[in-house]
Amino acid sequence: MAKILVVEDEHKIARFLQLELIHEGSEVLVADNGYDGVKKESEESIDLVLLDLMLPGLSGIEVCRRIRSHSDVPIIMLTAKDDISDKVTGLDMGADDYITKPFAIEEVFARIRVALKRNVKKGKKSNLFRFKDLLVNVDNYEVSYAKEKVVMTKKEFSLLVYLLENVNVVVPRETILSKVWGYEYIGETNIVDVYVSYIRTKIDQKYGVEIIRTIRGVGYIIMGDQNEET
Ligand code: CA
Repeated sequence: MAKILVVEDEHKIARFLQLELIHEGSEVLVADNGYDGVKKESEESIDLVLLDLMLPGLSGIEVCRRIRSHSDVPIIMLTAKDDISDKVTGLDMGADDYITKPFAIEEVFARIRVALKRNVKKGKKSNLFRFKDLLVNVDNYEVSYAKEKVVMTKKEFSLLVYLLENVNVVVPRETILSKVWGYEYIGETNIVDVYVSYIRTKIDQKYGVEIIRTIRGVGYIIMGDQNEET
């Protein structure tokens, strides 16, 4: 289930988006001004931001800039039809996509699915994986959960990244062994189970989440939200 922040000052539109997204199975927070939007984004673990550009006070562009200074959360801008320069500025500021008003709700759902999927697979800033509160940076070997650093060995890290690269795919133990350990399967896959249990101790058990699921008799999977499937 995705947690979506709607930043929109027009009450009717905000309410409409909120009801439709909740109906689709998302959790929705609403901010009716830019300051509140930036605040909510930094306080809550938001999966995606729907950001109206025409806001009173702090503009949508400025909201986008401030969020981007600390977060790679997907941002979809809501813009009026003739706001060409705002669209361009917003994309330059790091927004992922835009939707032109008036919009059909199906289009909003579709854009959200694409943005979430892209973000789970690979953050667009090179090698960044984001999965719920888990943040994995392949470039500097850093892992954090809910902004807390998770210390991992190189093997645990490689295993986690491999599973994240294959999100929503069941990966057999044999495949993990050859891809992560780099040798041919020789009948001993227990080592994979051992390393999965190390990761679970450090993340799943510590934070009370289920990142890596066991598929009995086959292997492991990291599951994204069901509604990410297109
Ligand atoms: Ca507005």
